[in-house]
Amino acid sequence: MSDNKPLSGQAAVVTGSTSGIGMALAEALAGAGCNVVLNGLGDPAKIEAERAQMAARHGVRVLYHHADMTRGTEIAAMIAYAKAEFGRLDILVNNAGIQHVAPVDEFPVEKWDQIIAINLTSAFHATRAALPIMKAQGRGRIVNIASAHALVASPFKSAYVAAKHGVLGLTKTVALEVAQQGITCTAICPGYVKTPLVEAQIADQSKARGISEEAVMKDVILAAQPTKKFVEFSELAGLLLYLVSDAGASVNGVALSIDGGWTAA
Ligand code: NAD
Repeated sequence: MSDNKPLSGQAAVVTGSTSGIGMALAEALAGAGCNVVLNGLGDPAKIEAERAQMAARHGVRVLYHHADMTRGTEIAAMIAYAKAEFGRLDILVNNAGIQHVAPVDEFPVEKWDQIIAINLTSAFHATRAALPIMKAQGRGRIVNIASAHALVASPFKSAYVAAKHGVLGLTKTVALEVAQQGITCTAICPGYVKTPLVEAQIADQSKARGISEEAVMKDVILAAQPTKKFVEFSELAGLLLYLVSDAGASVNGVALSIDGGWTAA
């Protein structure tokens, strides 16, 4: 272990890491010396290129597992793959997530089911599979990427808000269960981060409201974010690296807001 590679020799799984926040967090872990299993949807050639480049940039092993976050057996297989390849699992980041925006009485039932499966139940399956490995090691870090929407609601996001509130409940419960075994479970609750998930909303809202994308960003998306700035990947990475470090050992079962003050209001 060295100061600039504090996670050297450790192993992590980051779900939904072929894009956005998950990819940035996987990069940060790899940069700290951690071996990483990437996961997520996308063009296989692009994913393979990103995987190989990340490994080369940081001199760590970076692997990819295709598990679909709607399928518990595939999620369990992904955790088993990490253990088989790396011989250990120190860090699990439950990050995969999707969004759909519609009034609750018009909300497509299949979208509700899909959002609950990907944004909430996948974290249960991954945690369930990871804990026996972490318990045997006597140390582990589970970090759930929740949202400001784990703490407060917005209209038209019933499934997302319900799933994210659920993630926080899961976080607290797991934290209590494993608190004496060197394992922590925490939830990072970002405000808006400019990722493909949010860029799609900017485009949709611009069309729906008949206003420019700039106006959507300032007056709609960032209306609730007092800084009027998107949260940066580097800020999320900084918090993650703290939580997984030894200094983070007593931060457990808690929601950590990183939202420019949104949930202070
Ligand atoms: P994104 O769309 O850029 O990335 C989502 C990732 O999840 C992708 O890698 C995608 O392939 C993966 N994914 C989606 N469905 C999947 C499935 N069935 N199986 C496997 N992987 C799947 O989104 P993002 O903005 O980076 O979001 C990442 C997480 O952060 C989500 O949980 C989201 O709710 C949360 N979050 C995002 C914001 C924001 O403003 N962007 C704010 C708060 C919380």
